[in-house]
Amino acid sequence: MPTICWFRRDLRLSDHPALVAAVAQARAADDEVVALYVVDPALWRSAGAPRLAYLAASLRALDEATGGRLVVRHGRAEEVVPRVARETGATSVHVSAATEPYGRRRDDAVEAALGADVRLVRTGCPYAVAPGRLSTGQGGPYRVFTPFRNAWLDHGWHEPAPRPRDVPWATLRGDGVPDAPATDVRLPRAGERAARERWRAFVRDDLAGYDVDRDRPDLDVTSWMSVHLKYGEIHPRTVLADLAEAGRGARGALATSVATYRSEIAWREFHADVLWHSPSAARRSLREVVPADAWATGPEADDAFAAWAQGRTGYPLVDAGMRQLRALGWVHNRVRMVVASFLVKDLHVEWQRGADHFMAWLVDGDVPQNQLNWQWVAGTGRDAAPYFRVFNPVTQGLKFDPSGDYVRRWVPELRDVPGAAVHEPWRLPDGPPHGYPARMVDHKHEREVALRDHARRPG
Ligand SMILES: Cc1cc2nc3c(=O)[nH]c(=O)nc-3n(C[C@H](O)[C@H](O)[C@H](O)COP(=O)(O)OP(=O)(O)OC[C@H]3O[C@@H](n4cnc5c(N)ncnc54)[C@H](O)[C@@H]3O)c2cc1C
Repeated sequence: MPTICWFRRDLRLSDHPALVAAVAQARAADDEVVALYVVDPALWRSAGAPRLAYLAASLRALDEATGGRLVVRHGRAEEVVPRVARETGATSVHVSAATEPYGRRRDDAVEAALGADVRLVRTGCPYAVAPGRLSTGQGGPYRVFTPFRNAWLDHGWHEPAPRPRDVPWATLRGDGVPDAPATDVRLPRAGERAARERWRAFVRDDLAGYDVDRDRPDLDVTSWMSVHLKYGEIHPRTVLADLAEAGRGARGALATSVATYRSEIAWREFHADVLWHSPSAARRSLREVVPADAWATGPEADDAFAAWAQGRTGYPLVDAGMRQLRALGWVHNRVRMVVASFLVKDLHVEWQRGADHFMAWLVDGDVPQNQLNWQWVAGTGRDAAPYFRVFNPVTQGLKFDPSGDYVRRWVPELRDVPGAAVHEPWRLPDGPPHGYPARMVDHKHEREVALRDHARRPG
């Protein structure tokens, strides 16, 4: 009897414990492995074009890696997976466990629909330490990042799983990878091989300088692993194992950078853990920081939101970030923080609206990371930045884009403004260059409004 390996957020063949389990079971029965991917049309319709285009490319890469045996079926998972099990006579479906609210509900529904004769076997998940695994001395979830990271480091993780050789893939009719909507976003190369190549290049060229340079959007030296981790083209365990190898015996900058990078991965795992314990955090603030009437609503808020989304706020670093988002479907982390803070604290628009916009455009758009990072910036999350800490878009620009190269790269209207002056075009003798908007709000004033609102917070 064949087994089914149902791929979801694990579009790779290396370091894939669920695939290892599926192959072992199939070999024991001298049978084959069905490589299945299910496209739910409702979800496919609701996701942003850049993510869909990337996902389609990643599925094609996985199909190639399986020798053309990836079986893509369209329909609701609770119907498709049992149907494939009946068609093939499989008695088990192997998956990497889903940990987010939607995936957990879907898998429970699939498990129920499979009935008693077909098992849904969960082996591993998209994290080094499964969300929900760690608990404090009192037995509850961690609320603060640093103790979580310490417990996470103490807990440790398995070595990467070996890549199965000569997998006996089954041949089965599929519906094919659906056409993704057209997008102008310049997508990175998709697939496991691209992920590995990018990761190796980062370790070779930029890891040693990561601790010092990672906050500089003008340098383009971060790893870009978020996209590959989101689709599981590489597992964080592989990344952590390579980091350990790179850091073995290292001192100075390399040792610090390895620790800093590991800590960023720990943030990813912390957010997944928070969402595991508080699924409502995907939509609702974990705490209220201003009274409900403080948020901008109506046509004025719509206009402010539109200017922000188009990168026409008159604040160069914000505008550069929002235009990078539209061009690449990716934004540097420092700039994500600045643009998110600007929307919430300068324009007083609720974080959920910004998070939705990010999800529509980001190629790495990922519910736990996106929603919890928005909550971090908005001050509404667990162990979030305090609400009163408001990012100043000008000083952030001067500090992290000191020569203005990042802004000039993304805002053509400012291309002729030399050096750091580009961060304050309103100070130029003739004002902002033709075509570039005046500041839509006064940051200093809006910061005070945000703080006054915060002082009236409920409770
Ligand atoms: C408002 C906002 C929204 C965000 N939305 C997403 C999202 O949808 N998907 C996503 O993967 N990341 C998100 N992030 C986190 C972070 O910005 C990206 O992971 C990072 O910019 C990706 O680029 P990189 O891989 O080159 O990062 P690197 O600097 O090379 O970092 C290495 C890895 O560490 C992890 N990491 C780094 N920073 C964070 C962080 N703040 N939180 C969690 N993990 C982190 C990522 O997996 C990243 O790939 C968001 C941050 C903010 C402030």
